Amino acid sequence: MNRPIAIHDGAREGEALREGEAPAEPTMKAARLYAARDVRIEDIPRPRLGPGEALIRVRAISICPSDWRMYVDGHAGGVVPERPIVQGHEFAGDVVELGAGCPDGGPIATGIRVAVEPSWPCGHCDMCVAGRGNICRHVRFPSFPPVDGALAEYIACPISALAALPDHVPYERGALAEPLGVSMHAVRLADPTPGASVCILGAGVIGIGCMLLIGRRGCGAITVVEPIEDRRSLPAGAGVRSVPSMEQLLSEGFEADIVLECSGDSRALDQAVRLAKPGGRIVVVGIPRDERITFDMSVARRRELTVIFSRRSHETIVEAVRLMATGEVDLSALPMAMYPLEETEAALCLTGAPGRFLRAVVTP
Ligand SMILES: [Zn+2]
Ligand SMILES: [Zn+2]
Repeated sequence: MNRPIAIHDGAREGEALREGEAPAEPTMKAARLYAARDVRIEDIPRPRLGPGEALIRVRAISICPSDWRMYVDGHAGGVVPERPIVQGHEFAGDVVELGAGCPDGGPIATGIRVAVEPSWPCGHCDMCVAGRGNICRHVRFPSFPPVDGALAEYIACPISALAALPDHVPYERGALAEPLGVSMHAVRLADPTPGASVCILGAGVIGIGCMLLIGRRGCGAITVVEPIEDRRSLPAGAGVRSVPSMEQLLSEGFEADIVLECSGDSRALDQAVRLAKPGGRIVVVGIPRDERITFDMSVARRRELTVIFSRRSHETIVEAVRLMATGEVDLSALPMAMYPLEETEAALCLTGAPGRFLRAVVTP
């Protein structure tokens, strides 16, 4: 799937300036993915605002493992961009301009700091009408082709996707409101009852978010499986046990009412099936690199397991920002590495070599 990304003739939006050409409109710097492992920093036109949109001066973009996968594969889950694409969907910044139909002076005004929910549903299809905008049939998601993402100086966003970010929350933490929203949606689907035991596979940002959210709900024992030692020692909270491997748990006869798969490992669903109690529930949040994975069907069927696939986040941004701002969910200790926009490729590569840093953050 490592085809180079074709450039449409006459594509206006996001078109690079030719040398010597006078810019007809305001430009901005952006990191654009041309093909697998080919990111170029370029001057491109600033996005134009549509009705109901705000122009955001981007201050911090946290690089998601899905960004890294698209960077190395040149496609997003089989969807190949038809023109060079700007990646990045976890971000925070300042509102600098409002489009038609946006009341200035309301909660979203020019000059305020914001975090962004990057899932933009159409509002009209059957899924949206049913209140499930995250699986909208026409959802737009910045960084998923053909919608440009936030690895740039500016991005246009629907004002309905914005949440005011209090001054004491730094932009790079505000960028984590999106992954925290992903954890919130997954925990909503898991719906643990009081006393339920929970096993979380993977202590990345999403897994840690799930762990902290479940801890707040006062469930039973929480067990985290994470092979990277530095991550096992991250803020765990009282009563959380971390182990390096599933094999250790299986040898103890361990099982959990709920298993949250947050690692994105292709073998993880098979592991989750073995770790779940009969009648248990598995929520799959991690995105494996392999398009097809296998799991032990006999174990899953005999245990009559419920497997739920979780898709992004849904109307979580305001609550995610509130939880972070009040410290009810404290992500402030997660180690992050900072990069200028020019070093976007280094930030992507750090993301592909998971270690001590939980996120690489680009500050344009
Ligand atoms: Zn993400
Ligand atoms: Zn829709």
